Amino acid sequence: MRACATCGAEVMRRDCHHNRYDEYICRACLGKGLKFTAMGRTVSRAGRWARLASHGATKVALALIGFYVLYTLVGFFSTD
Ligand SMILES: [Zn+2]
Repeated sequence: MRACATCGAEVMRRDCHHNRYDEYICRACLGKGLKFTAMGRTVSRAGRWARLASHGATKVALALIGFYVLYTLVGFFSTD
């Protein structure tokens, strides 16, 4: 049994729709044109942005480490 994300009704797994936001929507709600909840969409998008942000942060961190290593190497080989 799954709880419908829109109306909260308990429905069998085969009698509901699993949407892209990882929500289960019963057939009655699907019939009304409800395919997702605003909350589910918001949470899903927030999660995606968080993943993108952390991915970007990792790139920035690697770039900084790269610059630091280069800077250190340049200092190491400089003859001054
Ligand atoms: Zn429903």
